[in-house]
Amino acid sequence: MLKIRNYRKLYGKKVAVDGIDLEVLPKEIFGFIGHNGAGKTTTIKGIAGILEFDEGEIYINGNSIKDDPIKCKMDMAYIPDNSEFYEVLTGIKYINFIADIYEVKQDKRDFLIKKYADLFELTPNLGDSISSYSRGMKQKLAVIAALVHEPKLLVLDEPFVGLDPKATHSLKMIMREICDNGGSIFFSTHVLEVAEKLCDHVAIIKEGKIVAAGTMEEVMGDRSLEEVFLGMVDHD
Ligand code: ATP
Repeated sequence: MLKIRNYRKLYGKKVAVDGIDLEVLPKEIFGFIGHNGAGKTTTIKGIAGILEFDEGEIYINGNSIKDDPIKCKMDMAYIPDNSEFYEVLTGIKYINFIADIYEVKQDKRDFLIKKYADLFELTPNLGDSISSYSRGMKQKLAVIAALVHEPKLLVLDEPFVGLDPKATHSLKMIMREICDNGGSIFFSTHVLEVAEKLCDHVAIIKEGKIVAAGTMEEVMGDRSLEEVFLGMVDHD
């Protein structure tokens, strides 16, 4: 569903990501972890098609993000670490705007908006303007808008930041449900306990290079993910 081959990105002369390879199969939740500045967001923005890169290829559902960005984007939803909205819109207008772009049929969008807005307890606020939303409410809105077109691949940058414990639980349930239904998820996080419990696969990036990748069992062995991670990022 997502294939990254030799992805390399420089900012000026600085190498931010140095030729990484990753693959996420259908039904997989893939966690991407690394210290601040390791290259996670730079990779995720490349996948989302909003950052040009210097070398390599990224394929989404078999299509190249460079050659077929629209096809790729129709199959994918991306939630950045700090979503920006047209704040004068109400929540429901924003979701409908996204659903219009993806040409989601009315009955399907009504069903999905109700399902996810109820789950995140945002239904009473959907008629309010986004400028009145708290950070967590904006994050919930970003998730609902992403799910309204049933993406095959969901790409999330630090999705749990700002969510309360109940919303965090709901998002974890949704992530698992998407994968059980054949979808794929690629997300970055600093919350290693969540990654350990939720992910099927994990990759650790350090200074732009992948230093460990595999199934959660392969990467962890008989240690916790935190122990593995700290061992890798502290060790030079
Ligand atoms: P964090 O966990 O702090 O969000 P990250 O793993 O997402 O970090 P990136 O944002 O991908 O890290 O940054 C990777 C490297 O690229 C860092 O050294 C950062 O300083 C650099 N970088 C990121 N964006 C830019 C930019 N627009 N211009 C120049 N350098 C950048």
